Amino acid sequence: MSVALVTGSSRGIGAACAQALARSGYKVCINCIERMDLAQALADRLREEGCQVICHQADVADSAAVNEMVRRIERELGPVDLLVNNAGIARPEQFQDIAPETWKRLFDVNLGGCFNTIQAVLPHMLHEHAGCIVNMSSIWGQHGASCEVAYASTKHAIIGLSRSLAAELAPTGIRVNCVAPGVIDTDMVQVLGQETLDNLAQEQIPLGRLGKAEEIAETVLYLARAGYTTGQVITVDGGFII
Ligand code: NAP
Repeated sequence: MSVALVTGSSRGIGAACAQALARSGYKVCINCIERMDLAQALADRLREEGCQVICHQADVADSAAVNEMVRRIERELGPVDLLVNNAGIARPEQFQDIAPETWKRLFDVNLGGCFNTIQAVLPHMLHEHAGCIVNMSSIWGQHGASCEVAYASTKHAIIGLSRSLAAELAPTGIRVNCVAPGVIDTDMVQVLGQETLDNLAQEQIPLGRLGKAEEIAETVLYLARAGYTTGQVITVDGGFII
């Protein structure tokens, strides 16, 4: 049975990924920074279905905490075969209002989190000449976004990291890909307000609705199985940007 680590999986897209992977036979580590109550509740539901899951609280920006989490996964589930770098934060504001600490924190979590987890799981993947890494970017990692300069910069960087690492690791059999979601109905986008979200869905998203976290999880599952796909960015946005 393969082992998956899904960062930021107490809720939203990460929770949907953890659930889909656990139900398809992965042993899964659910991770979060704060909401262990949600992580434990998800783990309990999945265990009732017969899935093998553990929960671990760790800030992905903290390399020591990430290493500790990966060592625990190795002890309790086995070495990580599939890493889903999903943990992320956003802070919409105008560029001139971004505090240096905010800029740094977004990079530390969104991009630094990927660096920390990949470095922690890579020795086993290199040893096995196999492994799969899926990094969560965004359509704002492919296109410019007003009032999202810091967030979009981290998400552009995640695509750069993924493509470059895919090229570097391909000869070892390890695949690295990205998912670029559009507007997905999770806590992260609630800051926009229901009216804005409704207008967005009706006027700018050709499929006429926000995406569901489960629809991103389906793409992650696909990438986990897509043995001849590496260095790719799969956009899942209801046609928002065509
Ligand atoms: P969300 O609902 O806000 O959930 C964020 C998750 O990340 C939570 O589980 C949170 O844990 C965890 N997290 C945050 N900071 C962390 C840290 N430092 N260390 C470990 N875990 C951390 O977000 P979402 O909408 O599901 O987004 C998930 C990913 O998809 C993010 O990378 C986001 O940028 C990307 N994305 C989302 C959308 C969208 O429209 N929703 C679109 C494009 C891309 P706690 O519960 O403990 O806080």
